[in-house]
Amino acid sequence: MPSRKSIFKDIKSLSDNEIEELFNHKSELISFKSFTKSIHSESREQRYSNGVACLHCGSTSVIKHGKTNDVQRFRCKDC
Ligand SMILES: [Zn+2]
Repeated sequence: MPSRKSIFKDIKSLSDNEIEELFNHKSELISFKSFTKSIHSESREQRYSNGVACLHCGSTSVIKHGKTNDVQRFRCKDC
């Protein structure tokens, strides 16, 4: 594994174009992270809205419990 010192040395030896590439790559990673995060939260909402099961205990006895940001919230009767 490269040490932190050698990485800094490598970065210093890069040309301006290469540094720009490196940062572009980094921002891609960040947007990809938030993308996967949003997918994850969507699937969570779907599980609730279908009334499949409580995320905590797996019970299907859920009741409607108001709305947050126009998203229907449910509450588990068994928890
Ligand atoms: Zn529950």
